[in-house]
Amino acid sequence: MSSNSSESLNKMKSLVGKMIFMQVTEHLFLRAQQLLDSDVSIEERVRRMEVLNNNMKWFNSERTRILEQLQLNIFGQISVEHHNAMNMSENLYELREGLDGLSRRMESMQEDITCSICLSPWSSNGRHRVVSLRCGHLFGNSCIRTAIRRSHRCPICRRRALHADVRRIFSRRISH
Ligand SMILES: [Zn+2]
Ligand SMILES: [Zn+2]
Repeated sequence: MSSNSSESLNKMKSLVGKMIFMQVTEHLFLRAQQLLDSDVSIEERVRRMEVLNNNMKWFNSERTRILEQLQLNIFGQISVEHHNAMNMSENLYELREGLDGLSRRMESMQEDITCSICLSPWSSNGRHRVVSLRCGHLFGNSCIRTAIRRSHRCPICRRRALHADVRRIFSRRISH
C-alpha cells in the first residue's frame, strides 16, 4: 500500500473514531435529559434543556460535517486505489514487454548455437564441433559432412559445397 493511501486510511479511521465518540456522548446527553425531572426549579430545568439542546445541535452539525468528510475521503481513497491499479497495469505491461524482448533475444541466441540440420547445439570440439561452409552458414561437423556426401550443397542456401570448403571456426557462442 502506498504512503498516500495509508495516510487517507488513517484519516478515515480517526473520523470513524470521532463518530463513535459522538454516538457515546449523545447517549449520555439523552440520559442526562431524563434525569432533569426532579427537585430543580422550572427555570433551571429550562436553562439546562437549552444548554443540552444547543449541545445536541452542535453535535448533529459536527456529525454531518464528519460524515461529509468521511464520504470525501472514501471517494479520494477509491480514486487513489484506481490510480494505483492503473499504474500497476502499466508496470505489468512494461514488464511483459521486457520479458518478451528477453525471450526473443534468448531464442535468437539459441538459433546462433544450434545446428540447423539436427537442431542440437554444436560444440567447440569433437564430432559435432562448429564448422562453416564458404557461404558462411554454420553446422555441426558430423551433420554437414553427411549432408555434403548426399547433395554437395549447403542445406540452408543450396549453394555448392565440398568437403574442402568445410572450415573449422571459433565461435564465441558455444554451449559446451
Ligand atoms: Zn547437427
Ligand atoms: Zn549456405
